[in-house]
Amino acid sequence: MFCKKISILGVTGSIGQSASDVILSAPEYFDVQVVSAGSNAQKLAQEAIRLKAKKAVIADERKCEELKSLLSGTNIEAHAGDEALEALAGEPCDLVLAAIVGFAGLRPILSALKNGINVAIANKEPLVAAGALVMETARKSGAKILPVDSEHNAIFQCLEDHNRAAIDKIILTASGGPFLDWDIKDINAATIEQAINHPNWSMGRKISVDSASMMNKALEIIEAHYLFDMPADKIDVVIHPQSVIHSMVSYHDGSVLAQMGASDMRTPVAYALSWPERIKTPGQTLDIKSLSKLTFLPPDLDKFPALRFAYTALESGQNAQITLNAANEEAVDLFLREQISFGKIAKIIENALLWADKEAPNKDIKTVDDIEEFNNNVRSFVTKSIL
Ligand code: NAD
Ligand code: MG
Repeated sequence: MFCKKISILGVTGSIGQSASDVILSAPEYFDVQVVSAGSNAQKLAQEAIRLKAKKAVIADERKCEELKSLLSGTNIEAHAGDEALEALAGEPCDLVLAAIVGFAGLRPILSALKNGINVAIANKEPLVAAGALVMETARKSGAKILPVDSEHNAIFQCLEDHNRAAIDKIILTASGGPFLDWDIKDINAATIEQAINHPNWSMGRKISVDSASMMNKALEIIEAHYLFDMPADKIDVVIHPQSVIHSMVSYHDGSVLAQMGASDMRTPVAYALSWPERIKTPGQTLDIKSLSKLTFLPPDLDKFPALRFAYTALESGQNAQITLNAANEEAVDLFLREQISFGKIAKIIENALLWADKEAPNKDIKTVDDIEEFNNNVRSFVTKSIL
């Protein structure tokens, strides 16, 4: 039996809650160190107490006093601010679960990896914007990156390291989201409630909107490219509305290995947290006999241009990848604040990619500061362009 010292970044979110469930159902395997949240001090304090964490850190500094008072009388230290979060993410432990949403998770991830700490990664946006830097940082320190995203977790389970040269393709499955059968006119005019109403998965608001536009799959193509060191032409996407097969690896002897499971993130979270062992999860199990059929179809790139953007960005390089991610984050934010229509999201990203191609094709971007600066420039370009 193992006992891992673990820190959870983004403990109050959807993935963070799945991790809490997993840990609380098997507490003998985990010793929780640091837990973090963006701005909800109440929920952070509650989770820190439930998980018996040593330290809690809230990114929003204005919530510092509130967190301190909520944790007074416990032995849990309260910290606040982005710098504290970055520093605490790098404090000694066996595993950090990266479950912050968006680019904001990049520095904490790098901080853990630099210190040689293994990272279970759900937070895909840093891999899209800074995949080469993230992977290089891990390689240098010897830290392992364990995929939590259900598709990448599935591929990780199906990959035979000694047979990498025999891989024909990795095939990411996509549910198609809530608008799979809608026509373009209705998709363009979709409301927030319709966009976040995912048929199979219950997730945070940003990733739910990404799933509706299929930007989530676009981000996952780039995520797979970096996590598994796969060229774009070996990464395929297939629509599989039942979300039973979470992804596949096709080998050149004709074998296709697939990982199946219920649509419950507690399974991939548990696998990443307990790897290389397997623990029981409190999640749903798949009732194979109740499955009447599994269907597969090609994605419709006219209705969902996001996938095309991903392949373009992979071909163009890092500037385009930062742009794709930053323009999407800004556009989704604007949509969720009712500033733009759903249909505008894809247009904004396309426009930003054209702008980046013209403005910054050869801009030399290497360090995390360069990446952050360019990320902010893209976001300002998007805000200005919609005025
Ligand atoms: P969520 O919105 O439910 O939770 C996000 C967490 O990040 C919260 O704890 C929040 O407090 C914290 N946070 C937000 N902004 C922050 C900031 N600026 N600084 C520090 N912390 C901040 O999101 P989620 O659905 O749990 O997704 C988290 C990540 O995991 C995303 O990158 C998403 O793409 C990925 N992911 C999620 C799922 C899922 O089922 N939810 C599946 C696969 C991958
Ligand atoms: Mg996924």
